[in-house]
Amino acid sequence: MSKPLPLAQAFRPVALSLALAFGGIALSVAPAVASAAAPLVKTQAPGFYRVMLGDFEVTALSDGTVDLDVAKLLAEPPARTSAALAKAFVASPLETSVNAYLINTGAKLVLIDAGAGTLFGPTLGRLMANLRAAGYQPEQVDDIFLTHMHPDHVGGLSSNGVPAFPNATIHADKRDSDFWLSQGNMDKATPDAKGFFQGAMASVNPYVAAGKYQPFDGDGTLVPGIRTLASHGHTPGHTSYVVESRGQRLIVVGDLVHVGAVQFDQPSVTIGFDSDPKAAAVARETVFKEAAKEGALVGAAHLQFPGLGHLRAAGTAWQWVPVNYSTELK
Ligand SMILES: [Zn+2]
Ligand SMILES: [Zn+2]
Repeated sequence: MSKPLPLAQAFRPVALSLALAFGGIALSVAPAVASAAAPLVKTQAPGFYRVMLGDFEVTALSDGTVDLDVAKLLAEPPARTSAALAKAFVASPLETSVNAYLINTGAKLVLIDAGAGTLFGPTLGRLMANLRAAGYQPEQVDDIFLTHMHPDHVGGLSSNGVPAFPNATIHADKRDSDFWLSQGNMDKATPDAKGFFQGAMASVNPYVAAGKYQPFDGDGTLVPGIRTLASHGHTPGHTSYVVESRGQRLIVVGDLVHVGAVQFDQPSVTIGFDSDPKAAAVARETVFKEAAKEGALVGAAHLQFPGLGHLRAAGTAWQWVPVNYSTELK
């Protein structure tokens, strides 16, 4: 191999041809002035993260984050919560991710949960922008599977009474729609809780009116490769989804966990949003056990984006092992 030319020599022909191209006029460029500080940018990369699961492509979509006063919300003394958070180098209010998962099975494009839309303040509602950034269009979504009908999971379904996913059919456990879409239940609800019912109705009813809401009842297969796994408790019909291709499994667990820094070490700790805290804790234990036993990938709506990882049993506690970052999908 011949010895490389010194840089100046190597670039001389380029400089010469540029000078010729500009009619022989020598161009002089002033060096950049570095005295003004560059402004801080303060945003992240678009919020999507992809993994392959057998033949399926899974794209985690960020809807943004929201600050939650978890020291108040978790059912344990605030000082204990604060200590557990400090051990994880975070504090209350905790900046909490809202994640959804888009599954391309090759035959169907399925979205699991739809983010908050405008229902939960300005830091959420970014799912649609991130879906587009990830290379998809809302018109391509065939089906939307809801883990449950809380506003941070349904708000992105509709905008001003119009379905945001015009070709999609919505699916959720009938226990959730019977509860959250009931005018009678809303009338009985406390003023604080009314917003939850209004949010569910405003988001889901446009699909009901268009004949595009199909409730299911407990466990079953919705499309080839995706089945429901009843995990009732957080809401009456809270559902996890088992996605499987070529023997690889992902379990989307919805709101079975909100605060990893507390609830992995102490899985019995419940949160104020749980409809039936006891049942919610049992569902967490049951689904986590199944995921750990199978070595399944887990997708969690409120663990730090992309909310994907594995669970390892550690006595009565759990260890969360986030997915390894991957630049190319195999
Ligand atoms: Zn919830
Ligand atoms: Zn949630």
